[in-house]
Amino acid sequence: MLELIARSGATATVPERYVEHFAEQLRGGLVRPSDPGYDTVRGVWNGMIDRHPGLIARCAGAADVMAAVSFAREHDLLLAVRGGGHNVSGNAVCDGGLVIDLSASRAVHVDPVGRTVLAQAGATIGDLDHETQAFGLAVPMGVVSQTGVTGLTLGGGLGWLRRRYGLSSDNLVQADVVTADGRLIVAGPEDHADLLWALRGGGGNFGVATSLTYRAHPVGPEVFFAVVLHPRSDASGALRFFRQWQATAPEEISALGVLWHAPSIDEIPAEYHGSPVVLYLALHCGSPADGERALEPLRGYGSPIADLSAAMSYLDVQQYLDADYPAHTKRYYWKSRFLGGLPDDAVDLLIGLNDAAPTPDSTLDLWQLGGAMSRVPPGDSAFGGRSAPLLLAIEANWEHARHDDACIAWVRRVYAAVEPYASGGEYVNFPGFYEDSEAVVRSTFGQNLSRLTALKRRYDPGNMFRLNHNIRPD
Ligand SMILES: Cc1cc2nc3c(=O)[nH]c(=O)nc-3n(C[C@H](O)[C@H](O)[C@H](O)COP(=O)(O)OP(=O)(O)OC[C@H]3O[C@@H](n4cnc5c(N)ncnc54)[C@H](O)[C@@H]3O)c2cc1C
Repeated sequence: MLELIARSGATATVPERYVEHFAEQLRGGLVRPSDPGYDTVRGVWNGMIDRHPGLIARCAGAADVMAAVSFAREHDLLLAVRGGGHNVSGNAVCDGGLVIDLSASRAVHVDPVGRTVLAQAGATIGDLDHETQAFGLAVPMGVVSQTGVTGLTLGGGLGWLRRRYGLSSDNLVQADVVTADGRLIVAGPEDHADLLWALRGGGGNFGVATSLTYRAHPVGPEVFFAVVLHPRSDASGALRFFRQWQATAPEEISALGVLWHAPSIDEIPAEYHGSPVVLYLALHCGSPADGERALEPLRGYGSPIADLSAAMSYLDVQQYLDADYPAHTKRYYWKSRFLGGLPDDAVDLLIGLNDAAPTPDSTLDLWQLGGAMSRVPPGDSAFGGRSAPLLLAIEANWEHARHDDACIAWVRRVYAAVEPYASGGEYVNFPGFYEDSEAVVRSTFGQNLSRLTALKRRYDPGNMFRLNHNIRPD
């Protein structure tokens, strides 16, 4: 008998012969705690997460996923689903239960004529960019290339193209999904359109996506990317300017205003290393010449301590932040809040909170929203948060376990402090450890929650897919 953890948290005992039969059904293989690769396979991006699944099904395709979902249902097992394994919460793995691990299924196929892209569920943003840029195309994705496309898309997907071409999920045209009954459903605009609607922002609540098909757009190969740093002495002016500039910037531009501490790199004068800074990051997705012109006003503000802006390849922009987010070695805890605006007292508050950041790598990121992503009517997809002009992401990033408490406390402190400026919940892809998930689900999904709940009842009445911002069937 194998002792595993059931959905309720109780112990589930499964006869060995059932486990052996299950292993034979998997083309990708079953990894058990005693197997040599177990410790590598159970690791996820966030170095804080150290979970020990009872079984890991390395799913090579839809057939493996169907077998794994059926096995989990028949034995009532706690179930985690892993795409790229990048979510800060670490819910791609679980203690004692079954993990459906798609991270090795990374094929991407581009149709350059129809401008669509099919990605297997374990593909990363880098995989997708590599294939699409070969045809001068791009799908709106996130800003760090090692992130998995599936978790990102199911939660919405915010990146450098969001204001021109919308969220990742706005560009999702079809998804193959294995639902709780072990059936594969192809959700598209004609068939199971309601499921497609729910997958566009409703998270991993409705089944296991095995592949996703996207609309792609002409982008690159070269674009203009603005990277400008302002000193702490002018943080207040620099943030106020960012607030005013971003409100009317053309939608080819998607920008971030980041409160951070300057890294010790040659491009930044040594006197600023380690001190608080305001960083502007902005991509213009048209030609480099148009981009340079359009970003002049942003670069023209004040007396920056460094302006690293340049025309560069879209692929380089997509990987620009990768080195700041190493897998496994660093520890991360992130939350977020949509903001209704950024009045002067909020600017001053954020500057003070950045001064108090527990580590220099921690950041407060103001995501400029609006443009194409805000023109999609709120009822047209599950995603909550279309109307807010800004999203604040609160990122604690650190190295040593001894800083865990201080880093988590700082994120929660910032989260509470910006309550007066909050509007419409959180971004579900920056979920902390899913604390207060019920309240977040209510505030984030708002008017879409009753429809999502009805769909959850239809596709996952037993709430198998619960390790997420859980939409409960009841
Ligand atoms: C370094 C870094 C940078 C990021 N940058 C951005 C960004 O620019 N923009 C942005 O929007 N987000 C960003 N994110 C957040 C990111 O969108 C989420 O962490 C997302 O969940 C990652 O997807 P994943 O597949 O890698 O995650 P995983 O950890 O594998 O999965 C997260 C959750 O998604 C669900 N899920 C995953 N795969 C499947 C599947 N095949 N079927 C059903 N459900 C599934 C499960 O509920 C799972 O718990 C970033 C995250 C990191 C770590």
